[in-house]
Amino acid sequence: MKILANVEMKNYSNMKIGGKAKELIFIEKEEELKEVLKTRDKVFLIGNGTNTLISDKDLDISFISLKEFNYMKVIEKNENYDIVCIGSGANLDDLIDFMEANDYAGLENITGIPGSVGGLVNMNGGAYGTEIFDCIDKIKICDLDGNIKVFEKSELNYNYRTTDIKENKWIVVEVYFKFSKGFDKECSQDKKDKREERHPLELPNLGSTFKNPDQNFAAQLISDAGLKEYRVGNAMVSPKHPNFIVNLGEAGFEDVMGVIEHVKEIIKEKNNIDLQTEIIIVK
Ligand SMILES: Cc1cc2nc3c(=O)[nH]c(=O)nc-3n(C[C@H](O)[C@H](O)[C@H](O)COP(=O)(O)OP(=O)(O)OC[C@H]3O[C@@H](n4cnc5c(N)ncnc54)[C@H](O)[C@@H]3O)c2cc1C
Repeated sequence: MKILANVEMKNYSNMKIGGKAKELIFIEKEEELKEVLKTRDKVFLIGNGTNTLISDKDLDISFISLKEFNYMKVIEKNENYDIVCIGSGANLDDLIDFMEANDYAGLENITGIPGSVGGLVNMNGGAYGTEIFDCIDKIKICDLDGNIKVFEKSELNYNYRTTDIKENKWIVVEVYFKFSKGFDKECSQDKKDKREERHPLELPNLGSTFKNPDQNFAAQLISDAGLKEYRVGNAMVSPKHPNFIVNLGEAGFEDVMGVIEHVKEIIKEKNNIDLQTEIIIVK
């Protein structure tokens, strides 16, 4: 493993906010996870940091990264499908390119989500009616004691933006996908274009701040409440996509938290709905 000390975590969150962490550990072999988990008090697993808001104070936390686990291998070929093993540190973008190169179908709708495979599997990320669990066969995880286990998809509970993995704070080590043939290039490109058109990609952000409440869209509720461009310091509700909070430049952690709290308060007042954050907050 490689260990960096006193690391500026703003460089590892897509929000470009984050204080100095005690250490950031890049795991190179799965056996190292056990050692790290046994010897550290407070750990946090960071993927691509595209859904994680990190406090800008000093952080007495050992951050763990599986970025080195970025392999993609076809391990079984069958008449109607192949089984493909993907390291949890791989970028979804690279997995989509791999699918295109091998003519695999199934995840085109989620093209453009900037997360890692591990991050997406942890929360069952998705878009346009597809969730990453749709194409999963098995998942290799590491539990909090450092034990490695492989679960069939049918052994795991998963739902909208949540899974047993997230609930139990397990670490996704690698994921076995079951892909049939027929990559839909047009669909994939269309979803990429839609993201560029609808998301404020020019500014640091963490994607959707809040989960969509039952029968409702958080972005719509926020827009209807007149909260577009609501701002605390340099953190602002994006006018382009009101469920996104953008960093206009040097925003602080408390600025973002101020926006989150205000939005929650107003939506509770106007709609009697308790918005739940989708983003993960580390402090
Ligand atoms: C512009 C933009 C658009 C987005 N659009 C979407 C969208 O359409 N749909 C959607 O679902 N999300 C979307 N997101 C949010 C985000 O990309 C996803 O939630 C993604 O799954 C996060 O992956 P990550 O690697 O960045 O995770 P991180 O932010 O690094 O971590 C998020 C959580 O996952 C955990 N985690 C990370 N790696 C692992 C692992 N190997 N094993 C277990 N847990 C792990 C972390 O501990 C943390 O709790 C968007 C974000 C942005 C910035």
